[in-house]
Amino acid sequence: MTPPQAERSGARSEPKASEALKSRIEALPTTPGVYLFKSAKDRVLYVGKAQSLKARVRSYFGGGDGRVQVPDLVRRVADVSVFVTPSVKEALLLENELIKQHKPPFNVRLRDDKQYLGLRLDPSETWPRLRMVRRFERDGALYFGPYTSSQAMYQSLSQLRRILPLRSCSDAVFKDYARRGRPCIEYEMKRCPAPCVGWVTPEAYRELVAGTELFLRGRSEELAQRLRERMETASAAERFEEAARLRDRLAAVEETVVRQQIVTDRFVARDVFGLARRGGEVQIQVLHVREGRVIGAAEHPFSEVELEDAEVLASFLGQFYAGDAERQLPAEALASTDPADDGALEALLSERAGRRVTVRAPQRGPAQELLALAERNAEAALARRIEARESVDAAARELQDALGLAKLPRRIECYDVSNLAGTLAVASRVVFQDGQPVKADYRRYRVREAAAGDDLACLREVLARRLARRASEPLPDLWMVDGGRGQLAVATALLADAGVALDHLGIAKERDLASPSPRVRRSGGLKAERIFLPNRLNPVLLPPSGRGLLLLQRIRDEAHRFAIEFQRDLRRRAGMTSILEEIPGIGPGKRRSLLRALGSLKRVREAPLETLAAVPGLSQRDAETIRRFFDELAAGA
Ligand code: SF4
Repeated sequence: MTPPQAERSGARSEPKASEALKSRIEALPTTPGVYLFKSAKDRVLYVGKAQSLKARVRSYFGGGDGRVQVPDLVRRVADVSVFVTPSVKEALLLENELIKQHKPPFNVRLRDDKQYLGLRLDPSETWPRLRMVRRFERDGALYFGPYTSSQAMYQSLSQLRRILPLRSCSDAVFKDYARRGRPCIEYEMKRCPAPCVGWVTPEAYRELVAGTELFLRGRSEELAQRLRERMETASAAERFEEAARLRDRLAAVEETVVRQQIVTDRFVARDVFGLARRGGEVQIQVLHVREGRVIGAAEHPFSEVELEDAEVLASFLGQFYAGDAERQLPAEALASTDPADDGALEALLSERAGRRVTVRAPQRGPAQELLALAERNAEAALARRIEARESVDAAARELQDALGLAKLPRRIECYDVSNLAGTLAVASRVVFQDGQPVKADYRRYRVREAAAGDDLACLREVLARRLARRASEPLPDLWMVDGGRGQLAVATALLADAGVALDHLGIAKERDLASPSPRVRRSGGLKAERIFLPNRLNPVLLPPSGRGLLLLQRIRDEAHRFAIEFQRDLRRRAGMTSILEEIPGIGPGKRRSLLRALGSLKRVREAPLETLAAVPGLSQRDAETIRRFFDELAAGA
């Protein structure tokens, strides 16, 4: 939704002009809508919705019900703009859009729901398979989840594969094996019944699909019952092999039934939002309860929150549901406190679901017990977070003192350059904030200009690209580069040229410095870690089990892991034509010529140097680059 033009309630005031602001507030309409509190610099500080704009905005300034909420916000508000909407339901949608657009510091902001992972199953396909998705669409397919983490999802998937093996291959791979007339290793591992070669009938495969649906819906008992009946039928008909297969499947399902504890005997689809708080630290735990079982859960941490709990929940729930129209809607949303939203969410959800959806704070009974469960989880997660924060704070302080850093290193970026057997240079950047990885800010770089193998030139290129973006992407408190004096000097020189003062360091194991081999480098070792600092001749040796060093090591190891994952990804793509895009100096025109002249990627991969050199539009040097690329890709695989 594109937000309409704001209707200004008056000219911008000076920060102290609270009387003028109050008089403008008195002139606000009493209709539903969205209000934006702005600072003297016109920055949007907070976005809220209301049934009556005037009453709600007044309440912040003690003019309505006498409350003076969030004093820090009120002190900074210099102006208020409002959008009038037909009802509070539209206000909720608009509020969500405006929060996304302005990222106001006083709103709790639901991070881009990357953590939500789901599984998609499209029963209309001939041979359906489960796919991991990040968005739930309305496309006729079935969606399951969300899962708290990819680990939780893969756990569920691997359990499922043992019980109900569906194909896991892409359509292209499926066709490929169908053409070859033999199944892939998945069949040998009993994780696929090999529909690619027709070793399973469509009916039997449908049974697997139906069972998968029951399992993922949390209806394992129903699934077990079905399997039991089929097993008995097979056994009565003396189809003993089939009966034995069904018996094993049944045992596995029964095992999961025991594990999936029933949390309530009321089979109402519910989303439960438990909130825990310590000062400005807030944790919201979401539980998705279907058929009496918790089928998904997610944790949402927020810091420096100044709003009251009811406002926090209203804002959170608004973004949670309004932001994703495709989310599976429950019959009830239960929350720790009644959200301060004038019934907007209930109206919106009921309209979307085409049935009544209630939003409430239960006080007793099974619903309250579920809420207590979510709150206990939220409390535990909050306690863990605060404990971890304290230890991270101590680590950051330790680093600041020991390394003489100008700033407390709360946000750290670490860069690692690696290359695939000297041909394909890539680099990774990982970002940690308060000791936690910020995966949304991770980057992978393909080195464009520098020669692969020249690690320092590659690092220079990547850091220069990062520095060039500093206006739109603020620099962290600390830059780390993987490497010793040489790598550090690259960072120092670039920062000096750009006139940027930024703490930076190089981290290298003693062994790294002695060995030029990336393989040895990757393997780590027991030697001490050295920290290289600008303007300091000798590296610093931090206490090996000190919190500060452990934090730096964790970040550096994560940068390694991320770089290696990138390389693996490239190797995985070795059989796909997109891998050609990774060959330095081979642009779209040359790629097209290659495929046109040789007919397939396989032929390109296997072509001798002379054949490559004979492709129209390719030079001898291009041919050598391509040949070396594939040879080294194969050697590294
Ligand atoms: S056995 Fe066939 S259908 Fe099954 S995963 Fe392998 S290629 Fe796909």
